[in-house]
Amino acid sequence: MNYYSLNNKSHKVSFQEAVVAGLAPDRGLYFPESISPLADSFFANIEHLSHEEIAFEAIKQFVGDEIPEVELKRIISETLCFDFPCVPVEENVFSLELFHGPTMAFKDVGGRFMSRCLAYFNRDKDIKNTVLVATSGDTGGAVASGFLGVKGVEVIILYPSGKVSDIQERQLTTLGQNIKALQVDGVFDDCQDMVKKAFLDESLKHLNLTSANSINIARWLPQMFYIFFAYQQLKKHNKPIILSCPSGNFGNICAGIMAKKLGLPIAHFVASTNANDTVPRFLEKGNYDPKPSIATISNAMDVGNPSNFIRIQELYNHNLSEFEKDFSSYSYTDAETEIAIKDIYNRTKYIAEPHGAVGYLGLKKEMAKQPNSVGVFLETAHPIKFLDTVEPLLDLKLPIPKQIESVLGKEKVSTRIKTYEEFKSFLLS
Ligand SMILES: *Cc1c(COP(=O)(O)O)cnc(C)c1O
Repeated sequence: MNYYSLNNKSHKVSFQEAVVAGLAPDRGLYFPESISPLADSFFANIEHLSHEEIAFEAIKQFVGDEIPEVELKRIISETLCFDFPCVPVEENVFSLELFHGPTMAFKDVGGRFMSRCLAYFNRDKDIKNTVLVATSGDTGGAVASGFLGVKGVEVIILYPSGKVSDIQERQLTTLGQNIKALQVDGVFDDCQDMVKKAFLDESLKHLNLTSANSINIARWLPQMFYIFFAYQQLKKHNKPIILSCPSGNFGNICAGIMAKKLGLPIAHFVASTNANDTVPRFLEKGNYDPKPSIATISNAMDVGNPSNFIRIQELYNHNLSEFEKDFSSYSYTDAETEIAIKDIYNRTKYIAEPHGAVGYLGLKKEMAKQPNSVGVFLETAHPIKFLDTVEPLLDLKLPIPKQIESVLGKEKVSTRIKTYEEFKSFLLS
Protein backbone atom coordinates (compact mmCIF):
# COMPACT_ATOMS: atom_id res chain seq x y z
CA MET A 1 0.00 0.00 0.00
CA ASN A 2 1.24 3.46 -0.86
CA TYR A 3 0.65 6.56 1.20
CA TYR A 4 0.60 10.13 -0.01
CA SER A 5 1.37 13.30 1.87
CA LEU A 6 -1.69 15.45 2.54
CA ASN A 7 0.44 18.44 1.54
CA ASN A 8 1.33 16.99 -1.85
CA LYS A 9 -0.52 14.05 -3.37
CA SER A 10 2.24 13.23 -5.80
CA HIS A 11 4.67 12.48 -2.99
CA LYS A 12 4.10 8.74 -2.38
CA VAL A 13 5.86 6.30 -0.11
CA SER A 14 5.45 2.69 1.05
CA PHE A 15 3.93 1.67 4.39
CA GLN A 16 7.43 1.08 5.73
CA GLU A 17 8.69 4.49 4.67
CA ALA A 18 5.64 6.21 6.14
CA VAL A 19 6.05 4.39 9.48
CA VAL A 20 9.78 5.04 9.72
CA ALA A 21 9.47 8.74 8.83
CA GLY A 22 6.28 9.50 10.76
CA LEU A 23 5.66 12.72 8.88
CA ALA A 24 6.31 13.46 5.18
CA PRO A 25 9.33 15.68 4.34
CA ASP A 26 6.88 18.48 3.45
CA ARG A 27 5.43 18.10 7.02
CA GLY A 28 2.20 16.61 5.63
CA LEU A 29 0.44 13.67 7.27
CA TYR A 30 0.47 10.40 5.36
CA PHE A 31 -2.81 9.01 4.01
CA PRO A 32 -3.49 5.66 2.27
CA GLU A 33 -3.79 5.84 -1.51
CA SER A 34 -6.85 3.57 -1.59
CA ILE A 35 -9.39 2.25 0.92
CA SER A 36 -11.34 -0.92 0.06
CA PRO A 37 -14.43 -1.86 2.09
CA LEU A 38 -14.43 -5.30 3.74
CA ALA A 39 -16.82 -8.06 2.61
CA ASP A 40 -20.42 -8.04 3.89
CA SER A 41 -19.87 -11.60 5.14
CA PHE A 42 -17.18 -10.29 7.49
CA PHE A 43 -19.68 -8.02 9.27
CA ALA A 44 -22.41 -10.68 9.16
CA ASN A 45 -20.08 -13.11 10.99
CA ILE A 46 -18.16 -10.73 13.19
CA GLU A 47 -19.52 -12.12 16.47
CA HIS A 48 -17.87 -15.46 15.69
CA LEU A 49 -14.40 -13.99 15.07
CA SER A 50 -11.56 -13.51 17.55
CA HIS A 51 -10.04 -10.09 18.22
CA GLU A 52 -6.94 -11.18 16.31
CA GLU A 53 -8.97 -12.23 13.27
CA ILE A 54 -10.92 -8.97 13.23
CA ALA A 55 -7.78 -6.87 13.59
CA PHE A 56 -6.01 -8.74 10.81
CA GLU A 57 -8.89 -8.14 8.38
CA ALA A 58 -9.06 -4.47 9.37
CA ILE A 59 -5.37 -3.70 8.88
CA LYS A 60 -4.10 -6.05 6.19
CA GLN A 61 -4.77 -3.83 3.15
CA PHE A 62 -2.90 -0.97 4.82
CA VAL A 63 0.22 -3.04 5.36
CA GLY A 64 0.03 -4.89 2.04
CA ASP A 65 2.86 -7.32 1.39
CA GLU A 66 5.41 -5.32 3.37
CA ILE A 67 5.03 -7.52 6.43
CA PRO A 68 4.39 -11.25 5.80
CA GLU A 69 1.06 -12.60 7.06
CA VAL A 70 2.54 -14.70 9.89
CA GLU A 71 4.58 -11.76 11.14
CA LEU A 72 1.63 -9.38 10.97
CA LYS A 73 -0.50 -11.88 12.90
CA ARG A 74 2.20 -12.16 15.56
CA ILE A 75 2.40 -8.34 15.83
CA ILE A 76 -1.39 -8.18 16.21
CA SER A 77 -1.53 -10.85 18.86
CA GLU A 78 1.28 -9.19 20.86
CA THR A 79 -0.56 -5.87 20.52
CA LEU A 80 -3.93 -7.17 21.73
CA CYS A 81 -2.80 -8.77 24.97
CA PHE A 82 -5.70 -7.40 27.04
CA ASP A 83 -9.51 -6.97 27.09
CA PHE A 84 -11.73 -4.28 25.52
CA PRO A 85 -15.06 -4.67 27.33
CA CYS A 86 -18.14 -2.62 26.44
CA VAL A 87 -19.54 -2.08 29.93
CA PRO A 88 -23.21 -1.09 30.38
CA VAL A 89 -23.49 2.22 32.25
CA GLU A 90 -27.18 2.96 31.84
CA GLU A 91 -29.92 1.96 29.42
CA ASN A 92 -28.48 1.91 25.88
CA VAL A 93 -25.25 3.59 27.04
CA PHE A 94 -21.96 1.71 27.12
CA SER A 95 -18.41 2.53 28.09
CA LEU A 96 -15.78 0.96 25.85
CA GLU A 97 -12.98 0.51 28.35
CA LEU A 98 -9.64 0.95 26.65
CA PHE A 99 -7.61 0.97 29.86
CA HIS A 100 -6.93 -2.68 30.59
CA GLY A 101 -3.46 -2.65 29.03
CA PRO A 102 -0.02 -2.34 30.60
CA THR A 103 -0.16 1.44 31.22
CA MET A 104 -3.96 1.72 31.51
CA ALA A 105 -4.54 4.05 28.53
CA PHE A 106 -5.70 3.34 24.97
CA LYS A 107 -2.34 4.45 23.63
CA ASP A 108 -1.00 1.04 24.64
CA VAL A 109 -2.60 -0.37 21.46
CA GLY A 110 -0.97 1.95 18.94
CA GLY A 111 2.29 2.03 20.89
CA ARG A 112 2.61 -1.75 20.88
CA PHE A 113 1.65 -2.09 17.22
CA MET A 114 3.95 0.64 15.97
CA SER A 115 6.99 -0.51 17.96
CA ARG A 116 6.66 -4.03 16.59
CA CYS A 117 6.36 -2.78 13.01
CA LEU A 118 9.56 -0.77 13.45
CA ALA A 119 11.33 -3.76 14.99
CA TYR A 120 10.25 -5.89 12.01
CA PHE A 121 11.59 -3.32 9.54
CA ASN A 122 14.90 -3.20 11.44
CA ARG A 123 15.20 -6.97 11.74
CA ASP A 124 18.41 -7.52 9.77
CA LYS A 125 19.81 -4.05 9.99
CA ASP A 126 22.25 -2.38 12.28
CA ILE A 127 20.43 0.91 12.05
CA LYS A 128 18.68 2.27 15.03
CA ASN A 129 15.56 4.40 15.20
CA THR A 130 15.15 6.98 17.89
CA VAL A 131 11.60 7.72 18.92
CA LEU A 132 11.08 11.13 20.52
CA VAL A 133 8.01 11.66 22.66
CA ALA A 134 6.97 14.89 24.35
CA THR A 135 4.33 14.24 26.99
CA SER A 136 2.20 16.31 29.31
CA GLY A 137 2.09 13.26 31.55
CA ASP A 138 -0.38 10.67 30.45
CA THR A 139 0.68 9.66 27.01
CA GLY A 140 4.43 9.15 27.15
CA GLY A 141 4.16 6.15 29.44
CA ALA A 142 2.06 4.11 27.02
CA VAL A 143 4.36 4.78 24.12
CA ALA A 144 7.44 4.03 26.19
CA SER A 145 6.03 0.80 27.52
CA GLY A 146 4.98 -0.25 24.01
CA PHE A 147 8.59 0.10 22.87
CA LEU A 148 10.21 -1.44 25.95
CA GLY A 149 12.80 -4.03 24.96
CA VAL A 150 12.12 -3.59 21.21
CA LYS A 151 15.32 -4.23 19.29
CA GLY A 152 16.87 -1.37 17.33
CA VAL A 153 14.67 1.33 18.81
CA GLU A 154 15.61 3.83 21.47
CA VAL A 155 12.89 5.95 23.06
CA ILE A 156 13.46 9.36 24.59
CA ILE A 157 10.63 10.90 26.59
CA LEU A 158 10.54 14.58 27.47
CA TYR A 159 8.23 15.74 30.23
CA PRO A 160 7.86 19.02 32.10
CA SER A 161 9.64 18.82 35.43
CA GLY A 162 7.29 18.95 38.44
CA LYS A 163 4.17 19.11 36.24
CA VAL A 164 3.25 15.43 36.06
CA SER A 165 1.77 13.35 38.87
CA ASP A 166 3.88 10.92 40.90
CA ILE A 167 2.26 7.89 39.23
CA GLN A 168 2.76 9.38 35.78
CA GLU A 169 6.39 10.19 36.51
CA ARG A 170 7.04 6.66 37.73
CA GLN A 171 5.47 5.22 34.56
CA LEU A 172 7.88 7.35 32.52
CA THR A 173 11.08 7.00 34.49
CA THR A 174 11.24 3.46 35.88
CA LEU A 175 11.26 1.37 32.71
CA GLY A 176 15.02 1.29 32.03
CA GLN A 177 16.44 -0.70 29.08
CA ASN A 178 15.94 1.26 25.81
CA ILE A 179 13.77 3.96 27.40
CA LYS A 180 15.33 7.24 28.58
CA ALA A 181 13.47 10.00 30.38
CA LEU A 182 14.36 13.70 30.31
CA GLN A 183 12.73 16.17 32.66
CA VAL A 184 12.63 19.56 31.10
CA ASP A 185 12.81 22.74 33.14
CA GLY A 186 9.69 24.29 31.60
CA VAL A 187 6.16 23.46 30.48
CA PHE A 188 4.80 20.90 28.01
CA ASP A 189 5.10 23.31 25.07
CA ASP A 190 8.84 23.60 25.75
CA CYS A 191 9.14 19.81 25.49
CA GLN A 192 7.17 19.80 22.25
CA ASP A 193 9.27 22.65 20.81
CA MET A 194 12.50 20.76 21.52
CA VAL A 195 11.14 17.67 19.75
CA LYS A 196 10.03 19.69 16.72
CA LYS A 197 13.39 21.42 16.51
CA ALA A 198 15.23 18.12 16.67
CA PHE A 199 13.23 16.76 13.71
CA LEU A 200 14.40 19.70 11.60
CA ASP A 201 18.02 19.55 12.80
CA GLU A 202 20.27 18.31 9.98
CA SER A 203 23.03 17.38 12.42
CA LEU A 204 20.70 14.77 13.98
CA LYS A 205 19.65 13.07 10.70
CA HIS A 206 21.81 10.02 11.37
CA LEU A 207 19.77 9.18 14.48
CA ASN A 208 16.70 8.32 12.33
CA LEU A 209 14.37 10.29 14.53
CA THR A 210 10.70 9.45 14.43
CA SER A 211 7.63 10.33 16.43
CA ALA A 212 5.11 8.02 18.04
CA ASN A 213 2.00 10.14 18.25
CA SER A 214 -1.10 9.55 16.17
CA ILE A 215 0.37 11.34 13.16
CA ASN A 216 2.26 8.07 12.63
CA ILE A 217 0.08 5.69 10.59
CA ALA A 218 1.28 2.69 12.61
CA ARG A 219 -0.09 4.30 15.75
CA TRP A 220 -3.24 5.67 14.21
CA LEU A 221 -4.55 2.78 12.06
CA PRO A 222 -4.53 0.06 14.78
CA GLN A 223 -6.85 2.32 16.76
CA MET A 224 -9.55 1.01 14.41
CA PHE A 225 -9.31 -2.39 16.08
CA TYR A 226 -11.28 -1.54 19.18
CA ILE A 227 -13.97 0.32 17.23
CA PHE A 228 -14.60 -3.00 15.47
CA PHE A 229 -14.62 -4.75 18.89
CA ALA A 230 -17.25 -2.26 20.11
CA TYR A 231 -19.46 -3.07 17.12
CA GLN A 232 -18.94 -6.78 17.72
CA GLN A 233 -20.37 -6.35 21.23
CA LEU A 234 -23.18 -3.91 20.36
CA LYS A 235 -24.44 -5.49 17.14
CA LYS A 236 -27.01 -7.62 18.98
CA HIS A 237 -28.96 -4.50 20.04
CA ASN A 238 -29.93 -3.99 16.42
CA LYS A 239 -30.05 -0.20 16.71
CA PRO A 240 -28.05 2.58 15.07
CA ILE A 241 -24.76 3.01 16.94
CA ILE A 242 -23.48 6.40 18.06
CA LEU A 243 -19.79 6.53 18.99
CA SER A 244 -18.45 9.36 21.13
CA CYS A 245 -14.68 9.88 21.40
CA PRO A 246 -13.19 12.22 23.97
CA SER A 247 -10.94 13.99 21.51
CA GLY A 248 -7.61 15.79 21.64
CA ASN A 249 -5.60 15.13 18.50
CA PHE A 250 -8.65 13.38 16.96
CA GLY A 251 -6.74 10.16 16.32
CA ASN A 252 -9.39 7.83 17.78
CA ILE A 253 -12.30 9.43 16.04
CA CYS A 254 -10.40 9.50 12.77
CA ALA A 255 -9.72 5.75 13.19
CA GLY A 256 -13.45 5.26 13.82
CA ILE A 257 -14.30 7.07 10.59
CA MET A 258 -11.75 4.96 8.74
CA ALA A 259 -13.47 1.85 10.17
CA LYS A 260 -16.76 3.17 8.78
CA LYS A 261 -15.09 3.59 5.37
CA LEU A 262 -14.27 -0.11 5.59
CA GLY A 263 -17.98 -0.77 6.06
CA LEU A 264 -18.36 -0.81 9.85
CA PRO A 265 -21.95 0.24 10.61
CA ILE A 266 -21.44 3.22 12.90
CA ALA A 267 -24.35 5.61 12.38
CA HIS A 268 -22.91 8.74 13.92
CA PHE A 269 -19.68 10.08 15.43
CA VAL A 270 -19.37 12.59 18.23
CA ALA A 271 -16.06 14.32 18.95
CA SER A 272 -16.38 15.46 22.56
CA THR A 273 -13.83 18.03 23.63
CA ASN A 274 -12.92 19.99 26.72
CA ALA A 275 -12.45 23.77 26.56
CA ASN A 276 -10.12 23.23 23.60
CA ASP A 277 -13.01 23.65 21.18
CA THR A 278 -11.44 24.36 17.78
CA VAL A 279 -13.55 21.70 16.01
CA PRO A 280 -16.92 22.41 17.70
CA ARG A 281 -16.38 26.10 16.87
CA PHE A 282 -15.56 25.18 13.29
CA LEU A 283 -18.82 23.22 12.94
CA GLU A 284 -20.80 26.04 14.46
CA LYS A 285 -19.19 29.03 12.76
CA GLY A 286 -17.65 27.54 9.62
CA ASN A 287 -14.10 28.82 10.00
CA TYR A 288 -11.21 26.77 11.27
CA ASP A 289 -9.44 28.92 13.78
CA PRO A 290 -6.99 27.00 16.01
CA LYS A 291 -6.06 28.57 19.35
CA PRO A 292 -3.20 27.90 21.79
CA SER A 293 -4.10 25.04 24.12
CA ILE A 294 -5.89 25.65 27.42
CA ALA A 295 -5.08 23.56 30.51
CA THR A 296 -7.99 21.42 31.78
CA ILE A 297 -8.62 18.45 34.07
CA SER A 298 -8.81 16.20 30.98
CA ASN A 299 -5.27 17.21 30.10
CA ALA A 300 -4.55 14.54 27.50
CA MET A 301 -7.01 16.44 25.30
CA ASP A 302 -5.49 19.87 25.76
CA VAL A 303 -4.84 20.35 22.07
CA GLY A 304 -5.53 23.63 20.30
CA ASN A 305 -4.90 22.41 16.75
CA PRO A 306 -5.86 18.74 16.39
CA SER A 307 -3.45 17.12 13.96
CA ASN A 308 -5.77 14.41 12.61
CA PHE A 309 -8.62 16.75 11.65
CA ILE A 310 -7.11 17.11 8.20
CA ARG A 311 -7.27 13.32 7.75
CA ILE A 312 -10.96 13.38 8.66
CA GLN A 313 -11.56 16.03 5.98
CA GLU A 314 -9.76 13.82 3.49
CA LEU A 315 -11.91 10.81 4.45
CA TYR A 316 -14.94 12.90 3.47
CA ASN A 317 -13.25 14.25 0.32
CA HIS A 318 -13.53 17.70 1.91
CA ASN A 319 -17.31 17.54 1.46
CA LEU A 320 -18.57 19.43 4.48
CA SER A 321 -22.24 18.58 4.09
CA GLU A 322 -21.56 14.81 3.88
CA PHE A 323 -19.26 15.15 6.86
CA GLU A 324 -21.82 16.98 8.97
CA LYS A 325 -24.41 14.25 8.40
CA ASP A 326 -22.17 11.75 10.20
CA PHE A 327 -20.37 13.94 12.68
CA SER A 328 -21.08 16.25 15.60
CA SER A 329 -18.72 17.90 18.04
CA TYR A 330 -19.48 19.38 21.45
CA SER A 331 -17.29 21.09 24.03
CA TYR A 332 -17.53 20.91 27.85
CA THR A 333 -16.01 22.92 30.67
CA ASP A 334 -14.19 21.41 33.63
CA ALA A 335 -17.16 22.27 35.86
CA GLU A 336 -19.54 20.33 33.57
CA THR A 337 -17.10 17.43 33.49
CA GLU A 338 -16.87 17.29 37.29
CA ILE A 339 -20.66 17.34 37.62
CA ALA A 340 -20.88 14.50 35.10
CA ILE A 341 -18.36 12.36 37.02
CA LYS A 342 -20.43 12.80 40.18
CA ASP A 343 -23.75 12.32 38.45
CA ILE A 344 -22.69 9.15 36.62
CA TYR A 345 -21.37 7.70 39.88
CA ASN A 346 -24.40 8.66 41.97
CA ARG A 347 -26.87 7.19 39.51
CA THR A 348 -24.99 4.14 38.26
CA LYS A 349 -21.93 3.56 40.51
CA TYR A 350 -19.77 3.70 37.37
CA ILE A 351 -16.50 5.54 37.96
CA ALA A 352 -15.57 7.66 34.94
CA GLU A 353 -12.36 9.71 34.75
CA PRO A 354 -12.39 13.20 33.21
CA HIS A 355 -11.78 12.18 29.56
CA GLY A 356 -14.44 9.47 29.62
CA ALA A 357 -16.87 11.86 31.32
CA VAL A 358 -16.43 14.38 28.48
CA GLY A 359 -17.14 11.53 26.04
CA TYR A 360 -20.25 10.59 28.01
CA LEU A 361 -21.59 14.16 27.93
CA GLY A 362 -21.24 14.45 24.15
CA LEU A 363 -22.82 11.05 23.68
CA LYS A 364 -25.88 11.93 25.78
CA LYS A 365 -26.35 15.16 23.89
CA GLU A 366 -26.38 13.38 20.54
CA MET A 367 -28.59 10.52 21.82
CA ALA A 368 -31.20 13.07 22.84
CA LYS A 369 -31.40 13.99 19.14
CA GLN A 370 -31.40 10.35 18.00
CA PRO A 371 -33.40 8.54 20.71
CA ASN A 372 -33.72 5.13 19.05
CA SER A 373 -29.97 4.53 19.15
CA VAL A 374 -27.43 2.70 21.26
CA GLY A 375 -24.46 4.76 22.36
CA VAL A 376 -20.87 4.04 23.30
CA PHE A 377 -18.24 6.40 24.65
CA LEU A 378 -14.55 5.60 24.86
CA GLU A 379 -13.16 5.40 28.38
CA THR A 380 -9.62 6.24 27.34
CA ALA A 381 -7.78 5.89 30.66
CA HIS A 382 -8.24 4.25 34.05
CA PRO A 383 -9.58 6.57 36.79
CA ILE A 384 -6.49 5.83 38.92
CA LYS A 385 -4.44 7.92 36.47
CA PHE A 386 -6.58 10.92 37.40
CA LEU A 387 -7.06 10.12 41.07
CA ASP A 388 -6.37 13.72 42.14
CA THR A 389 -9.62 14.69 40.39
CA VAL A 390 -11.73 11.58 40.84
CA GLU A 391 -11.13 10.69 44.51
CA PRO A 392 -12.14 14.01 46.09
CA LEU A 393 -15.12 14.40 43.74
CA LEU A 394 -16.54 11.01 44.65
CA ASP A 395 -15.20 10.99 48.19
CA LEU A 396 -13.64 7.57 47.84
CA LYS A 397 -10.29 5.86 47.63
CA LEU A 398 -9.57 3.96 44.42
CA PRO A 399 -7.86 0.60 44.78
CA ILE A 400 -4.44 0.57 43.11
CA PRO A 401 -4.45 -1.76 40.06
CA LYS A 402 -1.55 -4.19 39.67
CA GLN A 403 -0.12 -2.35 36.64
CA ILE A 404 0.29 0.79 38.76
CA GLU A 405 1.43 -1.03 41.88
CA SER A 406 4.32 -2.52 39.94
CA VAL A 407 5.84 0.93 39.24
CA LEU A 408 5.23 2.47 42.66
CA GLY A 409 8.20 0.91 44.41
CA LYS A 410 10.69 1.52 41.60
CA GLU A 411 13.35 4.20 41.55
CA LYS A 412 12.79 7.14 39.18
CA VAL A 413 15.66 7.74 36.77
CA SER A 414 15.71 10.84 34.59
CA THR A 415 18.10 13.48 33.32
CA ARG A 416 17.34 17.13 33.87
CA ILE A 417 17.71 19.50 30.94
CA LYS A 418 16.87 23.12 30.31
CA THR A 419 17.93 24.13 26.82
CA TYR A 420 17.80 22.69 23.31
CA GLU A 421 21.60 22.53 23.32
CA GLU A 422 21.50 20.26 26.37
CA PHE A 423 18.89 18.10 24.67
CA LYS A 424 21.02 17.85 21.56
CA SER A 425 24.14 16.87 23.42
CA PHE A 426 22.15 14.21 25.24
CA LEU A 427 20.97 12.82 21.88
CA LEU A 428 24.52 12.85 20.51
CA SER A 429 26.14 11.29 23.56
C1 LIG B 1 -4.51 10.84 24.08
C2 LIG B 1 -5.74 10.80 24.93
C3 LIG B 1 -6.98 11.28 24.46
C4 LIG B 1 -7.15 11.96 23.13
O1 LIG B 1 -7.16 11.04 22.07
P1 LIG B 1 -7.03 11.55 20.54
O2 LIG B 1 -7.04 10.28 19.76
O3 LIG B 1 -5.75 12.30 20.44
O4 LIG B 1 -8.21 12.41 20.25
C5 LIG B 1 -8.10 11.13 25.28
N1 LIG B 1 -7.99 10.57 26.51
C6 LIG B 1 -6.81 10.12 26.99
C7 LIG B 1 -6.76 9.54 28.36
C8 LIG B 1 -5.65 10.20 26.22
O5 LIG B 1 -4.48 9.77 26.72
